[in-house]
Amino acid sequence: MSTIQTRAAVLRAMGAARPYADSRPLAIETITLDPPGAGEVRVAIKAAGLCHSDLSVINGDRPRPMPMALGHEAAGVVEAVGPGVDDLSPGDHVVMVFMPSCGHCQPCAGGRPALCEPGAAANGRGELLGGGTRLHGPEGDLHHHLGCSAFADRAVVSRRSLVKVPADLPFEHAALFGCAVLTGVGAVVNTAQVRAGQSVAVVGLGGVGLASVLGALASGASPVVAVDLSEDKLALARSLGPVLTVNAADADAVEQVRNLTGGGADVVLEMAGSVR
Ligand SMILES: [Zn+2]
Ligand SMILES: [Zn+2]
Repeated sequence: MSTIQTRAAVLRAMGAARPYADSRPLAIETITLDPPGAGEVRVAIKAAGLCHSDLSVINGDRPRPMPMALGHEAAGVVEAVGPGVDDLSPGDHVVMVFMPSCGHCQPCAGGRPALCEPGAAANGRGELLGGGTRLHGPEGDLHHHLGCSAFADRAVVSRRSLVKVPADLPFEHAALFGCAVLTGVGAVVNTAQVRAGQSVAVVGLGGVGLASVLGALASGASPVVAVDLSEDKLALARSLGPVLTVNAADADAVEQVRNLTGGGADVVLEMAGSVR
């Protein structure tokens, strides 16, 4: 296999002046993509989501090596597989996950692949799990964003960054499973280990918070209370199922949550990252 050209959204420097509509920190560039190496896969991206973690690189809150092709929440179709990949084939539908899991470090062996140590190290270096970068611009190599670099027509990623999904799952939905659903539902199911009948309050209804609401409903939690400042988001939460809502702007918001949960929720998930 040979290299190919692809378009990708490239960030060359963090901390651009706002508004970004004027400073335009991301540029669509035509870059060169290496063929998939051992244990790697080339994916044609069909849908990608914009996540706050993308913004955190753009504004420099979460510094990453520059330049970097951004994007880490995506779904697509396998185009080509490298040597040693025997469980994915061209045409398979896949979701990218933002933390590759090596499968044999201590956290991976202990059933906590999200804490994979080689995966975290590779992400910090802006490289694939197998080491190095497969992205090249006219002036030098580009770094991978969380092993994905999904704001692109095509990407080469580690097999360990992919999960195969059913072909009838719409790409726009599948993409969300790579970050927002994984984070929000994971917090409910794996971290809080919510059990049926427990009361759950979710504070903050972005993509992750809404995924937590869905995770709480799927876990059989009752009641599920959603808290946000936006009436639109509260209405969206109510549309997901039997969800009670509280507007955080209300002076007695805490009292309302206590009353709705019989004295206080068994589990509270803080998904806003804001003290407002
Ligand atoms: Zn994300
Ligand atoms: Zn690992």
